[in-house]
This record gives sequence, C-alpha cells and structure tokens, in this order.
Amino acid sequence: MIPYSHQFIDKEDADAVLAALKSDWLTQGPKVKEFELALAKYCGAKYAVAISNGTAALQAVYFTINIKKGDEIITSPLTFAATTNAAIWQGAKPVFVDINKDGNIDSDLIEKKITQKTKAIVVVDYAGLPCDFDVLKKIAKKHKLILIEDAAHSLGAEYKSAKVGSIADLTIFSFHPIKSITTGEGGAVMTNNKDFYEKLLLFRNHGITKDQNKFLNKSHGPWYYEMQELGLNYRLTDIQAALGISQLKKLPDFLKKRDMIAKNYNKELGKTEGLVLPKHSFKDRKSSRHLYPILLTGKLQSKRKDVFEFLQKNKIGVQVHYIPVYWHPYYQKLGYKKGICPKAEEWYKSEISIPIYPSLKKESQKKVIKNLKEILNGKIKN
Ligand SMILES: *Cc1c(COP(=O)(O)O)cnc(C)c1O
Repeated sequence: MIPYSHQFIDKEDADAVLAALKSDWLTQGPKVKEFELALAKYCGAKYAVAISNGTAALQAVYFTINIKKGDEIITSPLTFAATTNAAIWQGAKPVFVDINKDGNIDSDLIEKKITQKTKAIVVVDYAGLPCDFDVLKKIAKKHKLILIEDAAHSLGAEYKSAKVGSIADLTIFSFHPIKSITTGEGGAVMTNNKDFYEKLLLFRNHGITKDQNKFLNKSHGPWYYEMQELGLNYRLTDIQAALGISQLKKLPDFLKKRDMIAKNYNKELGKTEGLVLPKHSFKDRKSSRHLYPILLTGKLQSKRKDVFEFLQKNKIGVQVHYIPVYWHPYYQKLGYKKGICPKAEEWYKSEISIPIYPSLKKESQKKVIKNLKEILNGKIKN
C-alpha cells in the first residue's frame, strides 16, 4: 500500500528521542524551550509556544484573543473541523466564507460577512498554499480584527519571502505524523505579540505563573504560585520536543522532496482532460505541498467515487479534503444550511488527494500516475 501521507523518521530522530527519555526531564523542560526557539528562528517570529497538539493550539489562540459567547469568527469551510470546533469550545460562532480557485478563503467575500460581533478572521493555508495575506491584513486592520492562520498544512511555506508563522497575528502549526514535521502529537502557536505570548504560556499550564514579577497578590513565601487564568494542561513533553528539534533540521529537505513530487505530477498528469491540478508556481508565494489535491471536473466529476475506489483497490492511498465543515451532522444541528458556500461544496465533490510525502519513491509516483491515467482515460471515454 502506498499511503497518501507518511512521516519520515530516521536514526537521528530515534537517538534524539532516546536521549530525551534518559534525561532528567520527561514532560515540558529544556527541550521544549529549545524547540520553541528553533521554531521561532526558522519562521522569523518573535515567540513560539509549543502545545500538546494543533487542536489545543487553536483553542489556546481563541482563549488568548478572549473569544466569548456571542462572538463570531470568519473562516473557510474547506478545512479540518478542528479549526472551528476549537472556536465553538470557546463560545464563538463560526461564519463560513466560500473559497477561491486555490481552495483558500476568498478574501473578496469576507467584508460582507463582518458584523459588530466579528472578532477574528481565521484562514487556512489549504494544502500548504499561503492565503492572500496583503489583502487579509488590510481587511483585518480596517475592521480591527485579529488575523489567525491555521497553518497546520503550511509550515515552511512562504508569502512574499516571509515564512508562514511570521505573518498573521497568531499562527498555529500541527505536528501530527501527516504534517510537514512530526512530534507524534504536537502543535505550536507563533506570534510577534508579547501579550498574546504571555497569555498562551498561562493557558498551556493551568493558568498558573511562578514568576514573582507577574504576581497579582503579595507572595506568601517561596512556595507561592498563582493561578490567574482558567487554563488547562496543554504541555508538550521533552521527549516530543526532542523529536521536533531533530525533524525541524530536515524540514528544508522535506520541502524540496515534496516540491519535486508535485512538479513530477504536474508534468505527467498535466494534459489529462477534465483534471485540474494545483498550480506549480506562484509569483508571490511558495507552497509547502502538504497535499496534492486533484479536481475531477466536467464529465469526470460524477466518476470521483469510482476513481477513488479504483486507486484504493490498487493499493494507492487517497483521501478527500474536505467534507465542508458545516455539512457534518453536528454543524447541521447547529442550524447551518447546505448551499452556503457553493464553491467549497463543488470542490468537495471533485477532489481527491493523491500520495505526497518526502520518502515517496519515484517508482511509487509512477504507479500513482499510471493508475490514475488508466482510470481517468477509461472514464473520459465512457
Ligand atoms: C491537522 C489539522 C488540525 C489539527 O491538528 P492536530 O494536531 O491533529 O490536532 C487543524 N487544522 C487543520 C487544517 C489540520 O489539517
């Protein structure tokens, strides 16, 4: 079976984890700090806060901007449900805006959805392609909204030579095994804002501070600490951080390999009738190639399920990204109606994600291409 995504772990990674395991720290300690500094440096951001996973990182972000019941966030439905689930946990109502032809939020449609209740714009770099940040920042500034980037797909991607993680007010990453780098489970929040940074640190650790310079009341003695916010335990462990540090060193190479695979797919599949491929190059941005989404359009659209099943039967791992979030029964129950974002729905009906990951061999790519061409050409004729 060729999976649609897979982590890459080598001896160096294993040794790093083993060393952490034998150290004095198992939970959050010096390795977490080192990982945060390495992430901040890599992204060109002032602060990084490691969090137990990407979903918790999202919740931490919503907590940090003080989302309350009655607040709204504007976001795209073409994402993993965690983007909005975490906002709902903090009391917000997601307002969905349709996508553009790259699968990212259509920034031209945002302003119409802004109300007195809107607190933030939450964008997702679909498949690893950064959104239109110049436009998004202008809208956020004009309406005094916070710009949040769900960059679970886009660690290593660039917008006008700025690395993702240094662009939005708050950016989250996920280090789940299918993402750019992995820590098993893991996540992080990046920001340049000191107040946000301090609040994130509190939230991740029960709302507790041991820093006497930050105490609100007078210290009772050397044992004293204060719980100042309603936080949780969302810490990453040093074992995971050691893996993260080791993985981050390989990220430039991972990105190169992903890009080469995408280039090869574009070259080999480019002439297939009805098949829409991700663009290979953009003048102002660079994708991290987290996914390689192909769209089956025209006559092919109704054959999507057959194509998916054919590839699976031939041991090629495929996925569909994504079922529009508001189509899920939970969101339907909340009252979201189908049809509100027709382009995202059309995307869902057309899309298949084919295998892409750093260790995907040339031979496996050939197999994917050969099988795809075979089934698609057959379906075009029928
Ligand atoms: C993976 C992912 C998340 C959640 O990250 P976890 O680390 O799995 O919690 C959130 N948003 C998007 C777009 C993702 O792909």
